[in-house]
Parts: sequence; C-alpha cells; structure tokens
Amino acid sequence: MSATVMDGKALAAKVKSEVRCKVESLSKKPGLAVILVGDDPASRVYVNGKKRDCAECGIYSEEYALPAEISQEELLDLIDVLNGREDIDGILVQLPLPKHLDERQVLLAIRPDKDVDCFHPFNVGQLMIGEDGFLPCTPAGVMRMLDEYSIDPAGKHCVIVGRSNIVGKPQAMLMLRKNATVTVCHTKTADLKAECLRADILVAAAGRAGLITGDMLKEGAMVVDVAINRNEQGRLCGDVVYEAAVERASFITPVPGGVGPMTRAMLMENTLYAAKLHGKW
Ligand code: NAD
Repeated sequence: MSATVMDGKALAAKVKSEVRCKVESLSKKPGLAVILVGDDPASRVYVNGKKRDCAECGIYSEEYALPAEISQEELLDLIDVLNGREDIDGILVQLPLPKHLDERQVLLAIRPDKDVDCFHPFNVGQLMIGEDGFLPCTPAGVMRMLDEYSIDPAGKHCVIVGRSNIVGKPQAMLMLRKNATVTVCHTKTADLKAECLRADILVAAAGRAGLITGDMLKEGAMVVDVAINRNEQGRLCGDVVYEAAVERASFITPVPGGVGPMTRAMLMENTLYAAKLHGKW
C-alpha cells in the first residue's frame, strides 16, 4: 500500500482564500496584533509568516518587535492597550518568551475574546467542556485536514504521541469531540510501540526525529505528523520515518507541507472569528 499524501499546503491556501472572501465582505476589517520579544530567529520566521498570511487574507496586522530586555510591566501595559482597541480583534504573543518574563501571567493578560492562539485558561476550559469558542490552531488544523480527506474519527482509535498544552492535550479534546477513542502517550508511556500499533489514527507530536518507525504502525493507519524537527542532514522532518510509513499507512501528512501550513491558516480563521465576537459580522 502507498498512502495518500494529505496536502496541507493546498488546503491551507483554500482556507485562507475562504477567509479572504469573508473579510472582503466586511466593512470593518479584522485586526491582529503580533508581539515578538527578543530576536530568536525561528520566532522571527514564524512572525513574518503570520504577517504574510494576514496580508493574503486582507486582515489588518500590526507587529510589535520588542527588545529582549523589556520588563514584564511594559509588556503587560502594551497588552492592556491592545485589549482596549476596537481595531485589534486578536492578540498573539509569540512564544517562547525570554526567561525573565512570566509567560503564564502574560497569556492571562490577553482578553479571552482576543486570544486567537486559544491559550487562555478560559478558552482552554471552553474547549474542554465542548462549548463554542476559539480552537487551538495546530489541533484544529489537524481536524480540518482529516475532514477534507473524509476521515471520520468516530469509533476509531486515535493515539496521540505527546501531551503538551498546545498540541497533545487539545488534540485529544478535539478527537473526543469527534467521538474517537483516545490514547495519549508521553515520555513515561511504558510501551510506545504497542500503543502506536493500536492506532487507526496516529498523531505524532513528540518533537523527536525518527521516533515512530514503520513497524510501529498498523497497516492502513492514518498518520498525522505534527512535529517539526531537523534531521542529521539539517533537513526538516517530523517524528515519523516517512519512507517506511508511507508504505504502511492509508493517509499521511508530509513534513514540511502538512500540519504546519494548516496551523497558520487556522490562525487566520481564529482572527476572523474574533472579529465576529466583536460584532464585525
Ligand atoms: P513539547 O516538547 O512541549 O511536548 C512534547 C511531548 O512529547 C511531551 O508531552 C513529551 O512527553 C512527549 N514526548 C517526547 N519524547 C517522547 C518519547 N520519546 N516518547 C513518547 N513521548 C514523548 O512539544 P510541543 O510544543 O507539543 O511540540 C511537539 C512537536 O510539534 C515539536 O516538534 C514542535 O516543533 C511541533 N509543532 C508543530 C506545529 C505545527 O504547526 N506543525 C505546532 C506546534 C508544535
């Protein structure tokens, strides 16, 4: 068997063009403020990508590139100002923050109705109890991709490798919402291979290149590789050994070009949704 490769890049382009269509129909444009603290090169790349996405979707964006030494108080003051601005619907603080800043306090300061990353405990709680609200971008991108390929998680066994607050845990919640039976694995899981072999849908989000080998996959499994790692040759890769997995899986996401572009597209959807919360449509 050779798997169908799920094209995240193409689907992300489609999602963004849908967002653009909606934005063009609005008299007041959605606005996103992106805050970058320090000069981490990877964060700079991500922020540039988000700005480009906004431009593509017709969303107004503002960037705050702040020095690494900024104080907690100054950062909170900026968030306070952005919280009060009507033209700004979403506020995103690019993580990680420099060590002297209290990340939790910063994320708590963002008004929940402007929390387009869905990191605020209020929104995480809404997700947990199944209420409408923001969806975390990466797990939501995964669900959208499954939907596009007519993969219904209902009744399937979904195994998620990774239990972080931004990927593994919210992914488990979204899979439960779609009636999958969910197993979440982590570094203390006793037999990762045995767990993975039970997966109809495997979501890999450990951040360990080569962790999921072909012999850990059930024949015909649907494999979603969230991770973004660099292999020994310095190339981008996921957690799954792609060449082996593509022969066993029924569907697979590539890295790059799979979940990554979908994450960015979901941020645009969330910004549009924030504009809805603010009465712009
Ligand atoms: P994290 O380091 O916060 O969490 C990793 C999780 O994997 C932990 O819960 C840990 O217990 C588990 N884990 C690590 N090694 C393991 C092992 N050997 N066996 C079993 N479990 C193991 O990372 P994160 O922020 O959740 O990100 C995970 C990966 O996804 C990273 O590669 C990151 O770059 C990538 N990522 C991609 C996107 C995207 O848009 N595609 C978005 C966010 C994160």
